[in-house]
Amino acid sequence: MINCLRLLFIFLFLPLSLLAEEQPWQVFKSTHFLVFYKGAKEPQLNELTERAEEYYNKITDDLGFARFNFWTWDDRAKIYLSDSQEEYRQLTGDPDWSAGHAQAGSKLIYTFITAPGFLDNVLAHEMAHIIFREMVGFNNPAVPLWLDEGVASFQEKKFSFVKADLADRIRQGDFLSLEDLGKVDVANLTETGRAELFYAESFSLVRYLIDTFGKDRFVLFCQNLRDYKDLRRALALTYSFGSLAEFESSWKKYILQ
Ligand SMILES: [Zn+2]
Repeated sequence: MINCLRLLFIFLFLPLSLLAEEQPWQVFKSTHFLVFYKGAKEPQLNELTERAEEYYNKITDDLGFARFNFWTWDDRAKIYLSDSQEEYRQLTGDPDWSAGHAQAGSKLIYTFITAPGFLDNVLAHEMAHIIFREMVGFNNPAVPLWLDEGVASFQEKKFSFVKADLADRIRQGDFLSLEDLGKVDVANLTETGRAELFYAESFSLVRYLIDTFGKDRFVLFCQNLRDYKDLRRALALTYSFGSLAEFESSWKKYILQ
């Protein structure tokens, strides 16, 4: 009897669920983007591509890329806009706290319609990952994860960061040193609190460099990283930091002041 019920259940529901999974992606195009979607409506897609085009201009400008015209025609970036977080997680395998995912080398962005802060934060964050990597090199081993994430978080419109909170944690010794940051693996960062601290510090390191020394110098830093593939050397050449420890203590002073 149980087997029959199970068979009936499979017969009734499996075709439906397969149909749902097989709903094809449709494509919405703009100058620099192809948006693959299923349930999104046209006004949502218009707003999404308008914002994406705005971020494209701002981020390429911020990273000193503005004079090149790329990401057009066959070279457009692809955004996969899932209808649900569940579908997004199946596509990316990301942890619960993740709302966006970029594959820089193939210019792919994954996200979902209901992702919190999707237009203000996620979109800009993931696009910055791709543009930054195009700038410093996709397989450049000198680029630490904190820098990748710091640059991406810096482009978010509403990155939640409270300097005083980070200052407290530094005073209490409850923070990640530069060396610790270098060992973080985002895929294994399943604990939300730890992920928040990692992103807050990454963001603040980039903000410290840009606030203190300016945007042009940061572009030069990225160029040095690209050309020399050596973080210490790029920091020394651009900012005259004698060592990573000197960079770290100078950042801590900025946070604590
Ligand atoms: Zn990121």
